[in-house]
Amino acid sequence: MHPRQILDRYAITPKQSLGQNFLYDEGLLARITAAAELSPADQVLEIGPGLGALTRQLAQAAGRVVAVELDERLLPILRYELEPFRNVELVHGDILKFDPAAWFDGPFVVVANVPYYITGAILRRLLDGRPRPKRLVLTVQREVADRLAAKPPEMSLLAVSVQYYGAVKVVGAVKAGAFWPRPEVDSAVIRVDVDERHLTDHRPQTTDHETPTAEHEVPSVVGRPPSVTEAAFFRVVRAGFSEKRKQLKNNLRHLGLADGVIAAGLDAAGIDGRRRAETLTVEEWGQLVEALG
Ligand code: SAM
Repeated sequence: MHPRQILDRYAITPKQSLGQNFLYDEGLLARITAAAELSPADQVLEIGPGLGALTRQLAQAAGRVVAVELDERLLPILRYELEPFRNVELVHGDILKFDPAAWFDGPFVVVANVPYYITGAILRRLLDGRPRPKRLVLTVQREVADRLAAKPPEMSLLAVSVQYYGAVKVVGAVKAGAFWPRPEVDSAVIRVDVDERHLTDHRPQTTDHETPTAEHEVPSVVGRPPSVTEAAFFRVVRAGFSEKRKQLKNNLRHLGLADGVIAAGLDAAGIDGRRRAETLTVEEWGQLVEALG
């Protein structure tokens, strides 16, 4: 059924402020579900089930689906639509306050047509959470998809923050006309495969990559040498991107280190200080952080 017909029946109008653009093409929803490569052993987190169209497909492919919806008005629709699926748990709440540890006892898969106004915040919260998702398949704005999957010299703080955890690829494009109501921008489906080594990392999270307390200062992994902590990594990356299009050696002054220390660190990492942050790979950031001590 068309989303408009369902909403009319309940006398509900979509809320733009909640990013309510519904997908209803079953073929497209099946392709999104297939991109997640789900098996009955998988547990899925769906963000914003809306009217339940994607949820139904996920419920048929996975062992368990936890679907978190903020809009209370949609709950009666979701309860009705999802009633036949015993493996769906509907949660009324804000995904930005969702605690994965209360619902999952190990790595899970995230599949969602996300509310675009919080794409970055969702990625930060889930990737910095415990347990972590092992895979994410997300429908996002086309422009954001391209930024997330960017390579040097087009990197951004967002790209490094996600690619640090795993490989990002654009699975396919979704035209604005596939949604109702139709959004102003085109979309794309991205898939993030979180590196295995990040999935066994059970240390407490460093909320929004803030400076951690001493107990967080445990060496960890991927895209950086083992002596580099996650918090140190993001402190340097944030400084590197602090002012647009400036040379790295100037932006790194935001770390509060002496110019000589920065120059020696860049030198030891084999990175030319005149480069811009946008040109560095995740691995180069790791080498730089290690060299800066
Ligand atoms: N999954 C449905 C689909 O594909 O048609 C709906 C997707 S719609 C783009 C985004 C959904 O996220 C809406 O149902 C909206 O109410 C919900 N939403 C918005 N903000 C949210 C939040 N902070 N936490 C949980 N759900 C939210």
